[in-house]
Amino acid sequence: MIGTMRGLLTTARWLLRRPVTAHYPEQHMPVQERYMGFPALLTDDTADEPFCTGCMVCVRECPTQCMSAQMHDNPKFADGSSHRRKIIEEFEINLNRCILCGICVDVCSFDAIEMSYEHELASYARAGARADLTLLLEQGKRYVETSGWTPANPEKNSAGAALAKKAAAAPAAPASGGNEESA
Ligand code: SF4
Ligand code: SF4
Repeated sequence: MIGTMRGLLTTARWLLRRPVTAHYPEQHMPVQERYMGFPALLTDDTADEPFCTGCMVCVRECPTQCMSAQMHDNPKFADGSSHRRKIIEEFEINLNRCILCGICVDVCSFDAIEMSYEHELASYARAGARADLTLLLEQGKRYVETSGWTPANPEKNSAGAALAKKAAAAPAAPASGGNEESA
């Protein structure tokens, strides 16, 4: 009898405590500010395009060889709305093989990739753990919204700042009608 009462008391005590678990997958536990999830690609809002130029440095340095990328000529460079001659065309990370080491972030000189808060690997699709360019950019946008991320080197990497700097450094165009004397 005493044992039963003790058991009921323990159950009642735990019923009143705040739960320390979540009903996954309907609920997710919040991650800490410095949590390092899967890498995600960032978007340069000043040109509405990815920061990633497809330089392949991260692909070469990734210790598990889980990344692939392909670049192409940037049409926005031709029309003067971006300073990037080359831009990423295809990008893929096999999240099943990513060990979250952060090397890809460390070696990128273009503020293009960050360790996000993404940690969900469960998927109904056979290739669900292969994150393509669209998904990586979506994850990057979510990360920016949650963390307030800004590029570490905007003068060099943000198209808006880089183009403004280039325009300021360009020599002034000679005035037309050089033979006419000013009044
Ligand atoms: S994420 Fe950075 S290092 Fe990797 S391909 Fe893009 S620009 Fe290069
Ligand atoms: S975090 Fe490490 S393993 Fe994952 S993609 Fe980047 S370099 Fe590769």
